[in-house]
Amino acid sequence: MEKRLYNFAAGPSAIPEEVLKKAQAEMLCYPGAGCGVMEMSHRSAAFGKIRDGAEESLRRLMDIPDDYAVLFLQGGASMQFSMVPMNLAARGQKTAYIVSGHFAKKAFEEAGRWGEAVCAASSEGDGFSFIPELEPGAVPPDAAYLHITGNNTIFGTCFSELPDTGGVPLAADWSSAILGRRIDVRRHALIYAGAQKNLGPAGLTLVIVRKDAVRQDIDPVVPTMLRYAPQIKADSMYNTPPCWSIYMAGLMFEWVEAQGGVAEMERRNLEKAALLYGTIDSSKLFENRVPARDRSVTNVVFTLPTAELTEKFAAACAEAGIINIKGHRLTGGFRASIYNGVGLEAVRALAGLMERFEKEEGR
Ligand code: PMP
Repeated sequence: MEKRLYNFAAGPSAIPEEVLKKAQAEMLCYPGAGCGVMEMSHRSAAFGKIRDGAEESLRRLMDIPDDYAVLFLQGGASMQFSMVPMNLAARGQKTAYIVSGHFAKKAFEEAGRWGEAVCAASSEGDGFSFIPELEPGAVPPDAAYLHITGNNTIFGTCFSELPDTGGVPLAADWSSAILGRRIDVRRHALIYAGAQKNLGPAGLTLVIVRKDAVRQDIDPVVPTMLRYAPQIKADSMYNTPPCWSIYMAGLMFEWVEAQGGVAEMERRNLEKAALLYGTIDSSKLFENRVPARDRSVTNVVFTLPTAELTEKFAAACAEAGIINIKGHRLTGGFRASIYNGVGLEAVRALAGLMERFEKEEGR
């Protein structure tokens, strides 16, 4: 096998080796099934156990109460930008959004197609470099919900605390921090996340929704596949689900449980993040402008002062076996995504390289 390198990809991203090895061992033949997971019917007893096991494990990990449904859907987090308003708000109804990044803005724009989306706070004018605060009265009391993007993958910012919604239900995109830090499900009406960061491979979108938040009198124009209710009723098997991605997410959940749960993931992620932010803050070369309170624990962004140094450091990363570290095309610079699948040794390798680079540059 070729050597696996230090992978800091933002998503799809690193998966723990133990998980990949288990999937590899079971790939040709899932125990007792006579075939692999990719080849079995989603209606089979074997797959039923895989699906139910994944849900049960996630419920334990996130302490999800019984009045919340767990849905394994497709379409990515981007599909939820449309499904959330269509299922939680009446046609034309107000919804409120905190526009804290690229995907938050996309979610806000999609909601505007369905109803009156109100921008309750925004940091767009400052290049999404921080989490904007809600001014009193910014969330209309008749809004169906307030939407936040809990962690902004591109800009490396996150909500350190949930905003005070003033009693309006909270809907959150936790794609890039789910299972990476503790999230109080009870404070949300709905949580969604694309799987390809902390939950395994792409192709699966997780939705956790309080059942009574889902509108029963949904507008007839909403296509069946964009409704939560049929999927809740059918345990996410209204149609063929993303079987392989559900299986892999189940393995990820099992792995997180074996490691000590979400609290342990949070502890590790804080340790990894502290190492990188510490290196950046003590550097005269590397810079991160996010206020300490808003710094993401899962996506650490940083820049160098010139294009020449940026190129040179990118080359040094490649040389050191550090891959997928380039910043998003919107921001440039660098981004180290340090999700659950990225070990401390990878982060140590990066921090060590940054220190050596700084010395070599004579700072
Ligand atoms: N929300 C966030 C916070 C993201 O980081 C991303 C992209 N990775 C998306 C939404 C869009 O996700 P998807 O590609 O699954 O539609």
